[in-house]
Amino acid sequence: MARASSPPNRRRRPKFADARGLFARLREALASGAASLPDIARLVAEELAGDASMIYVARAGEVLELAATYGLNVSAVGRTRLRVGEGIVGIVAASGDALNLADAQNHPRYVYRAEIGEDAMASMLAVPVKRAGRILGVLGVMSRQARVFAAVEAEAMATVAMLLAEILAAAGATDLPEEGFSGSLSRRYAGHVLSPGIARGRILAYGAAGPIARLLTDDPAAELTRLERAVETANSNLDGLIAASLPGGNAPRDVLEAYRMVAQSAGWMTQVRQAIGDGLTAETAVDKVARALRERMRRIADPYLRERLADIEDMIGRLMVALGGMAPKPERADGYLLLVRRLGPADLLDWHSRGIAGVAIEEASASGHAAILARALGIPALAVERGAVEAAREGDDALLDAEGATLILRPEREVLEVYERALAAHEVRAAALAAYRDVPAVTRDGTAICLMLNVGLALELDQMERTGADGIGLYRTEIAALAAGGIPDVAGQAAEYGRVLDRARGKRVQFRTLDLGADKVLPGEAIQTEENPAMGWRSLRVGLDRPAILRRQLRALLLGAQGRPLSIMFPMVATVEEFRAARDLLEAEAARIRPSPERLEAGTMIEVPSLLFQLPGLLAETDFISVGTNDLMQFLFAADRGTPELAARYDTLSAPVLEMLERLVMACNEAGVPLSLCGEAAGRPLDALAFAAIGVTTLSMSGNAILPVKALLVEADLDALRPVLRELRRAGAAGGSIREPLAAWAREHHLPV
Ligand code: PEP
Ligand code: MG
Repeated sequence: MARASSPPNRRRRPKFADARGLFARLREALASGAASLPDIARLVAEELAGDASMIYVARAGEVLELAATYGLNVSAVGRTRLRVGEGIVGIVAASGDALNLADAQNHPRYVYRAEIGEDAMASMLAVPVKRAGRILGVLGVMSRQARVFAAVEAEAMATVAMLLAEILAAAGATDLPEEGFSGSLSRRYAGHVLSPGIARGRILAYGAAGPIARLLTDDPAAELTRLERAVETANSNLDGLIAASLPGGNAPRDVLEAYRMVAQSAGWMTQVRQAIGDGLTAETAVDKVARALRERMRRIADPYLRERLADIEDMIGRLMVALGGMAPKPERADGYLLLVRRLGPADLLDWHSRGIAGVAIEEASASGHAAILARALGIPALAVERGAVEAAREGDDALLDAEGATLILRPEREVLEVYERALAAHEVRAAALAAYRDVPAVTRDGTAICLMLNVGLALELDQMERTGADGIGLYRTEIAALAAGGIPDVAGQAAEYGRVLDRARGKRVQFRTLDLGADKVLPGEAIQTEENPAMGWRSLRVGLDRPAILRRQLRALLLGAQGRPLSIMFPMVATVEEFRAARDLLEAEAARIRPSPERLEAGTMIEVPSLLFQLPGLLAETDFISVGTNDLMQFLFAADRGTPELAARYDTLSAPVLEMLERLVMACNEAGVPLSLCGEAAGRPLDALAFAAIGVTTLSMSGNAILPVKALLVEADLDALRPVLRELRRAGAAGGSIREPLAAWAREHHLPV
């Protein structure tokens, strides 16, 4: 008969209050050299009011072996093995996430192993034992009573698991695989593109929980002093980063300063100090708070809040370096792909200066600070699905495909070859495209197309020279405000707008007034609880209801222009009346400011379908029109632009959209009002081709789209396309996409789509 490691403890133990007792006993055990695996198993069961505990360790071949237990049959030690993914323990090892189950045996994936003798146990809390991103084992505690272990207990277990990881690693190669579960097989992770491009390189998993040398302390006061010193160092490093002159104006500085405000907020530092008081060293305490933060982040859907937490984690990384708990960043990172859970803006700039080739972030949103900066800096970046950080090893070969939205770890030779060819073709194509910079955008039939830039940060102004764009068709003023964490004062805004005009060197710039609200919320602003924020109190609606903000911005634009021609457009206009009210505010400001702009134009964006039915009135009053297809499409089809499931359902290349645009173009031409189109669709070569064919001759797009669009347009014969397009629209009158047949026509005519 199997013998239990010690008599099951039937005495009712006091409820677990805090981790102090557990940490103190662990410290003693470590100091006396008695911290063997069975000792830790016993300590865990006793301190966490469990009836049994077990420690599984990783073995070669993705197997977990029972290495110690308390309260269960010791004869199973060394015998019971589970594959990764098998049973509760296997799931924890495979996912890297803890499981806290009141009724473990009824879990659908529970695996019964008679030899362990766990029949009487009801609940189980199992946590992964991780070190430097590798799973080295699983630590579990069980109780006869069906209960969910409390959050404080789960946190204490996570800390014990950190310690156990060090002990297992120190045990060396004698009985452990060198690196836990390595997973040498190739793995693919889907994602979404934050900033386009393809890069191949070695994985740099910087910041993935590195080993901590000393976990527990008996001198919290000394640890608190270490923490305060580290905070000072981290702050002064950040000051250095902010002070370092950065190219392209003040945008990065604004981003960094906004970030610092958040990163230094008091809440999480209080938690760190508390954990030190419980007996953890400063770096363990910081790490523990970081882990809790990650848990919270997983449950937060709001992209804005997630970004704020990312800022805090950026700061945590800096603290860990200052505490010596994390190696400083390598001097250079050329040819490396950064793979991280989160990335703050300061870190992204820092890595950029070290030459990073691409970035994959597990938790990032396209509207986040890091994404904005990655696009502005031209770094390929991908928001990658969870699991990649866990599965990657430092130095792994990897492919970051921020075109096809995939990260491939340890790619197979064949895949590498395909990508090598694609990369080579990419480079050839980039070089070929660069040659189009100074080629006039005139189609074969002689139609001149004006290609302009969509810009949101001063950093992106470099694209003017790189692409030879004809101007800026959309300057999104709210992006800099979002990045800076607030709307600058009039002088600050005027300076920004003045710089934009300087960089445009006399080319046309269409400034759009603040388009805040919906997904673009400034810090400190109460988040509106509207059922449909995209259709809610946003954009110009706020501007008209709170005219002080709009007037300040209009004043700043007039001041920034310093007499130069100025074009301003208003977003989300739904009625001619609204446009008139906005234009009246502009005129009132213009009457007060000298020098007056050489030419002052007030335009309107068409994003709300109601305007399409007020065209005579609108065209009599507006100086120009800019079609925002991103919003217009969502309101036309009643399809949220941010919902991925709807992304492919309705197409700009469809009869109803082309019909609407063509009528609009005709009305504008008749009224002599210039029209441009600045939604994302303008930057897709095939869409741009169709728009040009129906008479849209000014297209505004992001910097990386200008040359591919131009390369297509200069080869296209719009006269030849028109009858084909007419036929496709007729055949697609039921509203579906005509993209495929149009692409086929383009390919037949050797157009680079
Ligand atoms: C649009 O809606 O098409 C547009 C250009 O504005 P934004 O994408 O900034 O809403
Ligand atoms: Mg819009």
